Amino acid sequence: MAYIDVRQMSRMFLTGTQVTHANTDISFKVEQGSVVVILGPSGAGKSTLLNILGGMDSPSEGEVLIDGVDIAKMNARQLTTYRRQSVGFVFQFYNLVPNLTARENVELASQITKNARDVAKNPKLLLCDEPTGALDYKTGKQVLQVIQNAAKETETTVIIVTHNSAIAKMGDQVIRINDAHVQSIEHNAHPTPLAEIEW
Ligand code: ADP
Ligand code: MG
Repeated sequence: MAYIDVRQMSRMFLTGTQVTHANTDISFKVEQGSVVVILGPSGAGKSTLLNILGGMDSPSEGEVLIDGVDIAKMNARQLTTYRRQSVGFVFQFYNLVPNLTARENVELASQITKNARDVAKNPKLLLCDEPTGALDYKTGKQVLQVIQNAAKETETTVIIVTHNSAIAKMGDQVIRINDAHVQSIEHNAHPTPLAEIEW
């Protein structure tokens, strides 16, 4: 049984009279302990999907089976328990803090590295939203190395959202998302060690 099994999942947002289709008819499966890279341009629906996998949001339609349990059917309290027991996050600091000085950038970088280390210790599911977005090249690589090790050395399942297509090579699976839809799913029998990836 796949650790993650997303079935025809859609998420729409209603703002006033405007409907935004952030995720439309999304389906894919992920094996436990694998690394998945979700690639797509800004606005494609990547963060929406990640938030749903992490139990921070619920879909409008469809099923999201995690370890055989449909988290789409969970209420707020059940989702909180799910998050606490199973999920680690590496957040997209980039969007939260757009104007950093060089020094703040360095501090943030070490904080994120630490964050990734903490998070990489245990969770069954590690969700990373643009984990290298705010980081310099070297630190970004370190964070991804920690993440890759977590998947290799433990049974942690890792999902990395990025618009950097070079990072896709580290994935056992690459899911391309565009305009709320899954565009393609590729399986990679020989993911590239991070040390050999450059961007
Ligand atoms: P990405 O992470 O790929 O940049 P998002 O998942 O953040 O994309 O957003 C996908 C679409 O859904 C965008 O058009 C965005 O404006 C919209 N969206 C995301 N969250 C909300 C929300 N809470 N309310 C209304 N629209 C939203
Ligand atoms: Mg995003």
